[in-house]
Amino acid sequence: MGREAPVRVGVLGGGQLGRMLALEGIPLGHRFTFLEPGPDPPAGALGAVVAAPYDDLDALARIAGEADVVTYEFENVPAASAAYLAERVPVLPPPRALGATQDRLAEKQMFQDLGIPTAPFHPLDTAADLDPALTATALPAVIKARRFGYDGKGQAVARSRAAAAAALDALGPGLIAERFVRFERELSIIAVRGRDGSRVFYPLTENHHRDGILRASYAPARETAPALQTAAEELAGRIMDQLDYVGVLAIELFESEGRLLANEMAPRVHNSGHWTLDGADISQFENHIRAATGLPLARPAVPAPAAMLNIIGELPGAAAVAAVPGAHLHLYDKAPRPGRKLGHVNITGPDEAAVRASAEQVWALLPGELPVLPAGRRRG
Ligand code: AMP
Repeated sequence: MGREAPVRVGVLGGGQLGRMLALEGIPLGHRFTFLEPGPDPPAGALGAVVAAPYDDLDALARIAGEADVVTYEFENVPAASAAYLAERVPVLPPPRALGATQDRLAEKQMFQDLGIPTAPFHPLDTAADLDPALTATALPAVIKARRFGYDGKGQAVARSRAAAAAALDALGPGLIAERFVRFERELSIIAVRGRDGSRVFYPLTENHHRDGILRASYAPARETAPALQTAAEELAGRIMDQLDYVGVLAIELFESEGRLLANEMAPRVHNSGHWTLDGADISQFENHIRAATGLPLARPAVPAPAAMLNIIGELPGAAAVAAVPGAHLHLYDKAPRPGRKLGHVNITGPDEAAVRASAEQVWALLPGELPVLPAGRRRG
């Protein structure tokens, strides 16, 4: 039998997500090229890098010429760039998924159109929108930039009409106001859809943020009723079918009074799925690459609980982390800088108590003021 030609995968973005896509895709025989405007991309060691802005036509032409399929690890790629590529090479997830996630208002409207519950919301552009928006949301309200917000940036919680007006002045126009949800927990689901429409799901993951940045994930989310998992899979399936989606889709959810409210989604592999590298028998990264390159998806088996702790701002000693039972260090080859995601530690173990004990040891090695390790359910 002859050797199969490698599939050449182009990735828009060369950050840590691109790095981990390649780490999991190279064993499948694939080769990677990254389009990345920034210097020293974390994915640089894993493939060729085209160093150019996302709207550079020569660079896009090169990616189209050198790739059999293009995917992305960064969703704020200009729609025109994705459309240009899609005329020349398969782009998966389909560019319409970018359109649906780049604007928080369009995203929430799509959830609503599909019958998926969300916090009440209203567009907020001018002072004339303030009263109708606050009537829809009530106070407190969360006011967010519709576009280019991430990790809690471009957001404010308004507890009064005056505070909402100030947030509009500071952040507007182009905002969305949402009801402040007093959720019990933040959860996410990593869903995958193949080119043939087949679907697989990872167990709901419980996420803990600080200052808008994900700090810790636990999977499967603790004390979770099977009906909640079913509900999450069902809503994720509806979104993926609507978009004729191919690849990993991550959906961030609030659990509130036993219900799931959709907050936002990402058309890519997601930080809350990093635990799958060690806690599942197939990672979100491999399943994404399988989907994009037309290989069969694998239904993940998750034999035991797992945790993921982000490394932010400063690096812990590798030897100290490696000495903790069940700790798996993943570094992104990034220079330390305050607030920057530099890596993560996955923790596996035979049971929740063992994972928790190791997570506490790893917490102690991470810099900064650390939150008390969260118990199962708590108020967000
Ligand atoms: P987002 O950028 O939408 O993911 O928001 C960042 C974080 O802010 C979320 O992970 C929540 O912790 C919090 N948050 C966002 N929207 C709301 C909301 N409507 N009610 C309460 N908290 C929220």
